[in-house]
Amino acid sequence: MLVDSHCHLDKLDLTPYNGDLQPALDAAFARQVSQLLCIGIDLDHMDEVLALAERHPQVHASVGVHPLYRDSREPSVEELLQVAQHPRVVAIGETGLDYFYGEGDLSWQRERFCVHIEAARKSNLPLIIHTRGAKEDTLSLLREQGQGAVNGVLHCFTEDLDMAQQAVEMGFLISISGIVTFRNASALREVVRALPLERLLVETDAPWLAPVPHRGRKNEPQYVVEVAAKVAELKGCSLERVARVTTENYFRLFSKAQPQHAAAGH
Ligand SMILES: [Zn+2]
Ligand SMILES: [Zn+2]
Repeated sequence: MLVDSHCHLDKLDLTPYNGDLQPALDAAFARQVSQLLCIGIDLDHMDEVLALAERHPQVHASVGVHPLYRDSREPSVEELLQVAQHPRVVAIGETGLDYFYGEGDLSWQRERFCVHIEAARKSNLPLIIHTRGAKEDTLSLLREQGQGAVNGVLHCFTEDLDMAQQAVEMGFLISISGIVTFRNASALREVVRALPLERLLVETDAPWLAPVPHRGRKNEPQYVVEVAAKVAELKGCSLERVARVTTENYFRLFSKAQPQHAAAGH
């Protein structure tokens, strides 16, 4: 049982499936993927994301406005909190800071990030954080604005081990994407080796970043298996163990996604 902890199901290229999402999900289910978290990246597409989560019991959703979408409608704390009340919404994000692709004065990114942190604090939901080239500001804003009361995940992690460790100390998980399979990603492989499996998640970030051997094609949730297999190789353990532990990690963090009556089975 595997979880794709970060994918954009409303953005998948469904050409191979005649435009239908269900076979793409079935392909993932056939490869032991049991849960998917469909990430909101702007408020104008939130209805589509929510509809997916309502239609598919294996899919949950998050609400946020991406740090690279300068022209997206700016969210207020109140609006995020309102969407977050939806029973299928289990997290705030994706949010964060991207100084790698962002250009010019990026104070708007920091302001938007702070709005999301406040929404996470007030809703008690975890944050899904996108962070690139913005180590110090990401960590310090989480400390100052989070006030010790927020947790979450640094998704599609590509930064250094020191940042990962500081985030882990604050209670955050580190999510590993298909980048870990790329030839030039040796620093990320070191991060995976150094962190306990109990602090890791796996994700596809589909439709982007397809792992080797699918690199260059459109990514889809079933390829989270290739990500987990690479993590298993790096940790010197079985794929089954990576699947089990990262799934436990997922439900511990995104507790609102937990099956309500899991313990009531006979
Ligand atoms: Zn991202
Ligand atoms: Zn994303």
